[in-house]
Amino acid sequence: MHHLACISCKATFDHREILYQCPVCGHPLAVEYDLDCLVVDPKVWKERPLSVWRYRELLPVQGSPVTLQEGGTPLYHLKKLGEEMGLRELYAKHEGMNPSGSFKDRGMTVGVSMALELGKKTVACASTGNTSASLAIYAAKAGIHAVVLLPAGKVALGKVAQALIHGAEAISIRGNFDQALEMVHELCRSHGLYLLNSINPYRLEGQKTIGFEILDQLGYTPDRIVLPVGNAGNISAVYKGLKEFLSLGLIESYPMMTGIQAAGSRPVVDAIERNLPEVIPEPHPETVATAIRIGTPVNAEKALAAIRQTGGTAEAVTDAEILAMQKDLARKEGIGVEPASAASVAGVKKLLEYGKIERNERIVCVVTGHLLKDPETVVRQCSPPLEIDADLSSLLSALHL
Ligand SMILES: *Cc1c(COP(=O)(O)O)cnc(C)c1O
Ligand SMILES: [Zn+2]
Repeated sequence: MHHLACISCKATFDHREILYQCPVCGHPLAVEYDLDCLVVDPKVWKERPLSVWRYRELLPVQGSPVTLQEGGTPLYHLKKLGEEMGLRELYAKHEGMNPSGSFKDRGMTVGVSMALELGKKTVACASTGNTSASLAIYAAKAGIHAVVLLPAGKVALGKVAQALIHGAEAISIRGNFDQALEMVHELCRSHGLYLLNSINPYRLEGQKTIGFEILDQLGYTPDRIVLPVGNAGNISAVYKGLKEFLSLGLIESYPMMTGIQAAGSRPVVDAIERNLPEVIPEPHPETVATAIRIGTPVNAEKALAAIRQTGGTAEAVTDAEILAMQKDLARKEGIGVEPASAASVAGVKKLLEYGKIERNERIVCVVTGHLLKDPETVVRQCSPPLEIDADLSSLLSALHL
């Protein structure tokens, strides 16, 4: 069994209570399991397909989940890029290979399953795009209504298309993501919708399985796991899962948890660099990586703990560095990701240049979303195909053979 617990004052609450923050002190909540009574057997896990639900003993869902076969994503060895950077080993966990094309599906399969178990018939979120796409597919699968709030003009085309075709009620807010989240939070409190942003502690439970899969795929604990950071839920989730594995004796040490933000949206990086107890919100976040265009990360408290307690670090990368790495991943490794995802690998490159990462490390970057999410940014970077007359001589004079 599990319950909810405040990460700050440690107050505990029944798992059926619908809470998004501690009613006593206002800090974030986490799901806690009675690990001493849990029976987990890695041999049994290995017999199940690699997926979120391989680890169901460490997930809060009791009945059969709402699933579209999320997780089980490829872990690619980046031989060329790793060698170029002079790194011992560099891997990318391609979360763009999930059903809706981002890691959000891991959280939503759990979140929407919990919505049903809690008797909720309408789910809602604010989103920079991927959360809305993911919520839309699981609400469709479950046959329930989804409401998604998007920052107007700042959501990549593919993500809007997904929210629409899967039948979510999509509303554009003339404001940024942080404002949209505040509004939807209030709407859920006042009108009983079920909120599935990453302040919902159940969502992070699904996302922690990224770390479990990395360990299973590598067969050892990497020195460092690097993630792009927006609302800071994912880095917190992966660390929480690793803590559970450590408590269960399944690993002996932590990878250094490392968060990468965009230069125009870097409150977590600032807090780490300046050793602040909490983040100072950025009121006007700006970056081409719209998935991490977030100035007030709701999971910052958990993320700072993840980074500090594992000896990790945080770094910011410019939009130019992000787009250059997006192209490098595409052309040197055959891996297509959206800009926010390339931030993690761009961050590794930068940390190496600054001497903040050792060259003998074995590093896993989480690349979070698929290239096709944001075709417009790609088209702006690359020249369009050359258009020619339909004859061979025109073709031969056009080609660089
Ligand atoms: C949501 C998202 C992120 C940021 O994750 P957080 O949990 O908000 O830190 C990064 N990349 C992509 C593609 C995303 O969809
Ligand atoms: Zn509390």
